[in-house]
Amino acid sequence: MSLVAVKRDLCDLCGTCVGVCPVDCMELTETELRIDAETCILCRFCIDICPIEALEMKDE
Ligand code: SF4
Ligand code: SF4
Repeated sequence: MSLVAVKRDLCDLCGTCVGVCPVDCMELTETELRIDAETCILCRFCIDICPIEALEMKDE
């Protein structure tokens, strides 16, 4: 199974990715970006828009 993972050491919590998610499964808090893998449809929009490549597709 694949999922989108956040590279926590890179992500600066800018929030750009959250706005493009078509199923609204990303949640930004003051300290982290969370992705609900159950809801995510693996569209990659967030991966493509992140300006610093802090998101990646991972196989579990
Ligand atoms: S891959 Fe698509 S559905 Fe999944 S978190 Fe990113 S934008 Fe949302
Ligand atoms: S766009 Fe990239 S740096 Fe910004 S919150 Fe999303 S993953 Fe983090």
